[in-house]
Amino acid sequence: MPATVLMLGSMGHLAWRLHRQRFDERGMVNEVSGHPNLNALRAEGVETQDGLIAARIHNYAEAATALPAAAEKELVEQIILRLSLGNGGCKVYQGDEGIFMWLVPAGSVGNVGDQLAGLSAIFRSPANVSGRLIDLGIAFGVDADPGRSIQSRMSSALLACQEAQNAGEHWRVYDPTKLEATEWRVTMLGELDAAIDNGEVWVAFQPKLDLLSGEICGAEALVRWTHPEKGPINPEEFITAAERHDRIEKLTEHVLNRAVQVAASLNKGGRKFDMAVNLSPRLIGHANLKPMVVQTLRRHGLPAERLILEITETAAMSSAESAMQELRDLRGIGLQLSIDDYGTGFSTLDYLKRCPATELKIDRSFVRMLVSSRSDRIMVNSTIELAHSLGEEVVAEGVEDNETLQLLGQMGCDKAQGYLIGRPMPYEALVDYLADHSPAKAA
Ligand code: C2E
Ligand code: CA
Ligand code: CA
Repeated sequence: MPATVLMLGSMGHLAWRLHRQRFDERGMVNEVSGHPNLNALRAEGVETQDGLIAARIHNYAEAATALPAAAEKELVEQIILRLSLGNGGCKVYQGDEGIFMWLVPAGSVGNVGDQLAGLSAIFRSPANVSGRLIDLGIAFGVDADPGRSIQSRMSSALLACQEAQNAGEHWRVYDPTKLEATEWRVTMLGELDAAIDNGEVWVAFQPKLDLLSGEICGAEALVRWTHPEKGPINPEEFITAAERHDRIEKLTEHVLNRAVQVAASLNKGGRKFDMAVNLSPRLIGHANLKPMVVQTLRRHGLPAERLILEITETAAMSSAESAMQELRDLRGIGLQLSIDDYGTGFSTLDYLKRCPATELKIDRSFVRMLVSSRSDRIMVNSTIELAHSLGEEVVAEGVEDNETLQLLGQMGCDKAQGYLIGRPMPYEALVDYLADHSPAKAA
């Protein structure tokens, strides 16, 4: 090896040691791994115009506790190695408890979706740490809004990361308009009750396709709020706010009533049409729930078996045994129960056996990449087999293209829902849609 290379090598090593020492002194490295920490990012990212990405391993604490103390460093090394593999070699900063961040050049922020999709795929296979296979659940958040303090941007990226995880998505971009929205959220709740009464809050219906018969077999009721000044308000935003402030009951009653009314009228012509309504986890175990459902069905004369209540997997999972009993009671009326966003929680087989569901609804994050991702195909395939073995049906949500629909059909999936089949639409549009998609018309 030429002497200059050796010299440069040892100088490089020396420089790194000095650098590391300086960082150590200023508390800028993680004590366990020796990697730059978030203080280092705060110092180095002060004026940056780059995009900021946060990654969070949501089961980090569990994974680290399951390992011998000395192996945590190895776990972090593996995580950082994977992140660097997928982020084009950008420097990774390590926070506490499974949080990692890095900067991406401003010019490539537009392509960050590809980078994060790739990283999600890399993280799907378990890490091998000290001979143990460890599954790592990861979500990403992006802040692409420079010009604010690095501290505020780090919080935003983490918030986006949390939102992605809550929504069962791989990643989300922080939306700066939400800041001014905080103020609005406070007034919004005050307006919600009146908005329900004056018709600003209405219900959209998204059709569902039966893959075996090729017919439209039902719809999901999705709440909408069209504000006279603000325009359409994101349902997740006002639903979450209503849940937090105990206003969800009136909203649910409104949606359920409209959904059952529409279902009753669509079932009159001898057609079998199922109506799915989302149930906030806050309402499970609520004394009024069952009477409300029974009365609504009676008011419109809809047979209970035409109504499907959707509860999210995470909500269903965290339910206490008493809530499970409540679900059984609801099933006792004769209605159907669906586990929504299936795949985003961690249901065990034992739980699924005990849960009185009639349907599993596969989360759209698994459906989106079905054609291109082998691991998503495996997940969907095994869900279909599992559900069928438990006597339950499977619905795939978020179906946007024909290839995915074909594949789902081949896999034996029972039903599909998504923009390809139809977008959520007002009742009048649904009636036209059904006329266009009637079996007679198809034949
Ligand atoms: P969800 O139950 O998972 O509803 C499906 C969401 O996916 C809907 O978003 C729908 O518009 C969207 N979607 C449907 N097909 C596609 C597709 O092909 N591609 C993509 N990318 N998205 C698709 P939306 O209407 O914004 O609702 C969001 C969430 O809000 C719902 O997620 C549900 O959790 C909640 N929600 C909506 N209505 C109600 C309600 O009346 N009560 C309660 N408690 N929650 C509701
Ligand atoms: Ca749903
Ligand atoms: Ca869903």
